[in-house]
This record gives sequence, structure tokens and C-alpha cells, in this order.
Amino acid sequence: MNKYKKIVNCRLCNSKNLIDIISFNKLPLGNDYQKNKIKAIKAIKFPLKVKQCKNCNHFQLSISVNPNILYKTNYTYLSGIGKTFVDHFNSYYKWIKNKTNIKKKSLIVDVGSNDGSCLEKFKNKHIVCGVDPAKIPVQLANKKKIFTILSDFNQKAVKIILNKYGKADLVTSHNVLAHIDKNNEVFENIYDLLKFDGYFCFEVGYFLNVLKDNLFDTIYHEHLDYHHAIPLTKFLIKKKFSILNISTNKIQGGSLRILCKKEISPKIYNQALNFINNEKKVIYFKRKFLDNWQEKIQNNIFKLGDYVNSLNNENIIIGYGAPTKSSLLIKMSKIKNNRISLILEDNKFKVNRFLPNTGIKIVPTAKITQINPDIIIIFAWNFSKDILIKLKNYDIKNCKIIIPLPKFKIIKL
Ligand SMILES: [Zn+2]
Repeated sequence: MNKYKKIVNCRLCNSKNLIDIISFNKLPLGNDYQKNKIKAIKAIKFPLKVKQCKNCNHFQLSISVNPNILYKTNYTYLSGIGKTFVDHFNSYYKWIKNKTNIKKKSLIVDVGSNDGSCLEKFKNKHIVCGVDPAKIPVQLANKKKIFTILSDFNQKAVKIILNKYGKADLVTSHNVLAHIDKNNEVFENIYDLLKFDGYFCFEVGYFLNVLKDNLFDTIYHEHLDYHHAIPLTKFLIKKKFSILNISTNKIQGGSLRILCKKEISPKIYNQALNFINNEKKVIYFKRKFLDNWQEKIQNNIFKLGDYVNSLNNENIIIGYGAPTKSSLLIKMSKIKNNRISLILEDNKFKVNRFLPNTGIKIVPTAKITQINPDIIIIFAWNFSKDILIKLKNYDIKNCKIIIPLPKFKIIKL
């Protein structure tokens, strides 16, 4: 079994004309939480590098880690854990009801449905079906009575759905499509599953936000693509989807939402066209901006490392949240080894495991009362709002909270 393969063609337009944008050298898989510290420190590392296609401007990783290694071992990401996500899906449901004509008997299929957090909003009102290759979240979804197939979104999964329910009225997907190795196949499978006039709505990380705000920690091995609208919409038209609407939102550090429709002659509707034309005016995906992007990132994140390393050793420094991005954040900030004593985490599947590379132990959030930390670094900074509310419920005194990104910030609890 090959551990990874090099990606030599653009994943959207197939061009071989790819240039380097940024390299983080080698890193372990951010989700490779281990049950023992030594194993965590020795976790296998893979190159982490972003390239840009000179033909269509799309950004993507230089390699694709074998999905059997990437997802099927220690994958513990659960979308239902933060309140931010639950709120997001509430407003998503209202939005989609408004923009489409889904009815009571409509079939809604979620690609990469995780623990069913999105479909939960559609359940009871429509027919729902999820598909996801990760075992733990699929078990949780089925427990919630959200029918979920444990599989990649391949032809076999499509066949199961077609036999059980027929064609779909809406296919939805949230922060998943950039993860998929065989992306061409998945878009074709979605097309096949949809009725004519059926809708396809998806959200992916919006890379222009990442570039603008130096949010480099959304770059990790699971994310093969770093999207913006111009190359993506060209690709969608090639895959025979009409593009109805494009918008952005704040979820996951900034996402792009694209609403498509399966129509006989695919076209780009006015609202979407305006969005694309506005994007063309932005400089962030142009050479002039990208040339010193690595430097900008470093200047930003070194503030975290410099501050933490300047504190004397008596200070107890801990982390909050062990998302995939935390390994890269710690590495890039150059925080000295052993300075972070542990990381608090709400996801029970990560608790009592060790962070790859650094071997920092992950403990349940409630342990905070026994620690009395001086400093808490919020690694899951995109959920800072939720986390600060949780922290205020604990009686901890004289503790400073660090939010490392988008702008380094120290606040008193
Ligand atoms: Zn391309």
C-alpha cells in the first residue's frame, strides 16, 4: 500500500502547469492522535505543500495521502460538537428552504454527512440519507435514526440510495469536497444521483479568506483543494451543473457556499456571475500577493511563540481544543517543547490521547479545575466564542486566554 501519491495535474482543469506557493516541510497527520506518547512523537510525517495551477489559478496540495491511512484509523472529527455548527445548520436549513423548492417527500442526501448534524435539521420534514466513510460518526448518526451509509461516495453508494429511495431532490455537502481524493468521480456521482431540476448545494473553505488573513492552519493533509469561485465554477460548468447562487459565510474560518442545479443546458445565473466578477478584482490569488505570503504568515504566528517562550517556567500553559490544525499551529509558532502541559478537549474520542509530533496529552475539559492554568491557548480559535462561554462557567482565577488567529490576542477571563 502506497502511503501517498504526488498530485501532478490540476484537480479542476487537469493542467500540469503547477507552481509552489507555500511549504511547511513534513508534518504528521493532524488527526493522528495516538494512545501513547512515544507513538505520538514518532507519528509518521508527510510533506505539506500548496501549489497553484497556472492555467486556472486553483490551489491544491502537492500530495494525496492514502485515504485508508488518512481517515480509517484515528479519525475522530465530529461536526455536532460545537454550538456554532448547530446554529450554522439551523440557518442553512432556512436558507435552502427559501432558495429551492424542496417539499415534504423530497429526498435530501448529504455527502460526507459525519454524525448527521446537518441532516438532523431536515429529518422529520423530508426524507434524509447520509453517506460517510468514517466509522464513529456514522454509528452516531444511525443511533440518531439518520440513515447513513458507511462508505465513500462512490457508484456503489449511489446505487444503494437509488434502489432504496430513487433520485435525490437535493444533494448537500459541508466542508467535505476538498477532502475527496477522486473528486471528478464524486461530482459525476452527485450528478447521476440528482433528478433533473434537482439542487446541489455545498460549502467548502474559501481560500481567499485564508490568504487575506494568513489563516494558514486550515492547510492540512485532509484538505486537498483550497477553493475560490473562479476556477471552481468553470469546473462545475464542465461537470454540467448550472450555478444559481454563490455566497460566503464565517463557518470554519470562512466558507464559500455554492448552489447548483442540474439543468439541460448548464449556465451561470446573474447573482453568481456578479460574485465571480467581483472575485476577479481581488489580488489575493495573484503572484504579487503570494510571493511573500509565507513571510506574512510567519510574522503573524511568531507573535504566539515569542509570547509563550518569553514567560517564565512557573507559568502553567495549557491548550484548549485539539483540532487537526493544532499540530501545525504549534510547529509554526515555534513554541518550545514541553511548554504546553496539556490540552483540554470536549470530544471524548480525542480525550486521553496524545497530539501527534509533540506528544501533548489531551484531557477532558472538566480537568481544568484541578490545574489552575495561568495561560490557555485556544487552538480551536474558530470556535473561540463558544469556548470562552464554556470557560466562564469554571471558577478559574487570574488566567489569561490567548486567541492566536486571525490576530494574536490576549484577553483576561
Ligand atoms: Zn487548473
